[in-house]
Amino acid sequence: MASIFAEWRNQSQLLVFREGFSVPPEQLLQGIWQHQRIRCRDLCATDGRRVTVLHPGFLNLEAGPDFRRALIQVGAAKPFECDIEIDVQSAGWRQHGHDTNPAFGGVGLHIVWRAGANGPVGLPVVELKNQLDAPLGQLADALGQSATFPPQNVRGQCAAPLRDLPAAAVADLLGQAAQARLEAKAAALAAVAERGGWEQALWEGLFTALGYKQNSWPMRRLAELLPQLRHGLGQAPEPVVLLARLLGVGGLLPEQLDRDKLTNNYLRTLWDQSWRDRDRLARRILPRGAWTFHELRPANRPERRLALAAHWLAKRDFVAWLDDWICQPQKKPSPAAALLGRLAVSDAYWSRHWTFRSGRFARTHPLMGVGRLHDLAVNILLPWLHARALAAGNDGLAARVGERYFAWPKGQDNSRLRFMRQRLFDGRRMPLRCAALQQGLLQVQADFCNQTNAVCDDCPFPDLVGRYSLEKT
Ligand code: SF4
Repeated sequence: MASIFAEWRNQSQLLVFREGFSVPPEQLLQGIWQHQRIRCRDLCATDGRRVTVLHPGFLNLEAGPDFRRALIQVGAAKPFECDIEIDVQSAGWRQHGHDTNPAFGGVGLHIVWRAGANGPVGLPVVELKNQLDAPLGQLADALGQSATFPPQNVRGQCAAPLRDLPAAAVADLLGQAAQARLEAKAAALAAVAERGGWEQALWEGLFTALGYKQNSWPMRRLAELLPQLRHGLGQAPEPVVLLARLLGVGGLLPEQLDRDKLTNNYLRTLWDQSWRDRDRLARRILPRGAWTFHELRPANRPERRLALAAHWLAKRDFVAWLDDWICQPQKKPSPAAALLGRLAVSDAYWSRHWTFRSGRFARTHPLMGVGRLHDLAVNILLPWLHARALAAGNDGLAARVGERYFAWPKGQDNSRLRFMRQRLFDGRRMPLRCAALQQGLLQVQADFCNQTNAVCDDCPFPDLVGRYSLEKT
């Protein structure tokens, strides 16, 4: 089925590339770095040293370097925290006055599209040109998914033409946008699968999502290390064994026994398991500074997220079950209920603790709420199944994934969705009856809102909606 939204996306990408494909805009390079769409495992500086990115840093929307608080390891040196500056060319460093600006004193890595003369003296430089994990056009297509927009001047210029569009036409447009989002996420997972295989792509996607905003990068790093972490464990390891390795290499195991008796016993079990592999994995251990705990809700602590992941990893048939779930027609329980039931697990310790230091709760708390499990299904599991079906040339199965995606129940409302409803629909009630339409709204944000400024300068969406409206009436 020809998709008018897909055509619009292509047109909007022309805006992104108005400088030409040979020199991508700096905003796209920032997106590539932020989402680490690079060949992480063999990333090199221009002097030949290996560069390991333990955390790419936080995008800085204020004056100063592009990313703050990145955690980087260069060659065999210890990991260090630094700011990161991204320029299209090395010479941008001096042209933009960074060499004399004290705000750039903490920059420890210069990222450029093309390296050359007049860059910073003494800093390692990474040239992105030949180190991307997918073609540039594909990356431009996929990026911008998670950026947010400054919450001001809320009503967008497209609100007027959208008001004139019948509800069914709005739902049709958002549905097309949702399809584009499913395909972009599937393509990103397929790129990971190309270097590490499909199961690895699934775990990297799940771990990254489990880290949510604050800890997606150390979680993704642990997923990258899974082949080494699972080494020698056999087909059905105990969750606690996997968790011990994940916490050990994650640098999250406390070193002292000064807790209550239950926790001390539990810690002894984890240490026993972790120390068996400590020498083998010593060089991989993340510094504790790789994790963000500031403003993290206790329920979202990485220890609990890793406990959940350990239970999934311990299920020998985790992937086979997903294959079966998508292949079998299912009426009762609904496919969504069956999948969410499969993902929900209970843990003797972590269902009753937030941290190693917190007291024991009287009643259990889920390791992850239903709302977040819904998000994982829509953002990772269904795109992964879709990508695999496409890679296998199985159009029927890809269509089945699409059916489940569009039938998936509406997820929890959140600030991004509320913001976009304000932007596009001026606060009116909209027919977001299913998760896919919510995804469509986020895709409009990624493809149009995130390509322009708060006052919608040069955004083609209002015109496109106006023309679409004429065609429909
Ligand atoms: S940037 Fe474009 S899509 Fe976003 S609110 Fe403005 S006009 Fe609408």
